Amino acid sequence: MDGRVAIVTGAGNGLGRAEALSLAAAGARLVLNDLPGHALDAVAAEIKAAGGEAIACPGDVGEWATGEALLAAARATYGGLDVLVNNAGVLRDRTIFNMTADEWDLVLRVHLRGHFVTTRMATAYWRALSKERGGPVYGRIVNTSSEAWLLGSAGQPNYAAAKAGIVALTVATARACARYGVRANAICPRARTTMTAELMGDAPDDVPDPMSPDRVAPLVTYLASPAGGRFTGEVFVVHSDVVALLGPPTVR
Ligand code: ADP
Repeated sequence: MDGRVAIVTGAGNGLGRAEALSLAAAGARLVLNDLPGHALDAVAAEIKAAGGEAIACPGDVGEWATGEALLAAARATYGGLDVLVNNAGVLRDRTIFNMTADEWDLVLRVHLRGHFVTTRMATAYWRALSKERGGPVYGRIVNTSSEAWLLGSAGQPNYAAAKAGIVALTVATARACARYGVRANAICPRARTTMTAELMGDAPDDVPDPMSPDRVAPLVTYLASPAGGRFTGEVFVVHSDVVALLGPPTVR
């Protein structure tokens, strides 16, 4: 990643943390976001201990001011921004029969508005930079959808709707930004994270966990890298290890 500057939201644990560590290991300099008090300093310390660079910039991604603060932190600390990885999320699971408007609003706000706010700040910055330089710039966005956007999830209508919206936002962003050199892709992981462990149950102790965030993070780093620039507006479904997931083959 050659010192490129990356924002990762929801980087305090789970998939976001794994993505931040993977990007840092590849040579990116990190701006880490999560809600205040969510272990960002520990993740930053982990990156620094491994010889990398990271700062914490806590805040609610649903807030316009957080988007502005993240971009400002990247510019002030590292002199610019190259990569945005949107991962912050929250669950309020309930079937459609009983879901409250507050549960709907919160999940849509953090996931979808959260993706919008940071994307708005990053793309406006990259477009202005591209106009100033008179050519394309380096800009990579990796958004976090879920397999739930297509398959639905009976206990998560709010989450599934937000994740579908993230796919649409990603494609619209890719089309609007292509001429400036900016690439936007979405991943749809089925990763065992803090968020999903409650739903999926514990992994069996006797086999390596095929759905660990460490299996998903390298794809994000690839899409954030120069080589990943060949893809834009794409949606990557990552089952992490479909063979382990589905069990031994029954065909002969
Ligand atoms: P996953 O591993 O799937 O990303 P986690 O629950 O481990 O699931 O991570 C989601 C992260 O997003 C958490 O660290 C959580 O604190 C963070 N988060 C939740 N709401 C917000 C928000 N409004 N702004 C920023 N980060 C948030």
